[in-house]
Amino acid sequence: MYNSTIKPKKGQCVDCPEGSENFLTAGRCSYHYKIHRANVNGGPKKIAKRSKKGQKEDRQYTIKRLQFLAQPGNQRCFVEGCNNRADTVEHTAGRWGSNYLDESTWKPCCNYHNLEFERNSELSEKYQVSKISGKQKIIKR
Ligand SMILES: [Zn+2]
Ligand SMILES: [Zn+2]
Repeated sequence: MYNSTIKPKKGQCVDCPEGSENFLTAGRCSYHYKIHRANVNGGPKKIAKRSKKGQKEDRQYTIKRLQFLAQPGNQRCFVEGCNNRADTVEHTAGRWGSNYLDESTWKPCCNYHNLEFERNSELSEKYQVSKISGKQKIIKR
C-alpha cells in the first residue's frame, strides 16, 4: 500500500561516488534520479532533428540562395536607404512550408538588416508580406 508518510531513506546513490550518503529515490540521489528519469523518458529534449525532406530542402536552399544572391538585381540590401551588400536572404513571407524555397518571397538582405528583422518588429512589419498574404509568419521551423 502507498504510504505518503514514508521518510526518504538515506544511502549510497548508485551513480554517486562510493562513500556518499544521500536521500534516495529508487536507489538514486535526487540529482541523479532526475537525470535517470530524463534518460528513461528519451533523454534531454533535443532540438527537433530535421526530417529527410527538411535536409533535402536545406541542400536545395543552400544552392538556390547562392544563385539568388549572385543575380545582378540582388547585390544590394532591399531595405530602403540601405546600400549594403546583400549577404543573406530575407524570407519576407516566413520560412515555413513552400516559402522556404520560393524565391518570389525572398529579398536580398544585408547581414545587419537580417538581424534587425529579427529584433525590430516595426521594421519587420513594414517589409514582411505576411499581412498581405494573410499567412501567419513563422520563423522557427
Ligand atoms: Zn547521486
Ligand atoms: Zn540592409
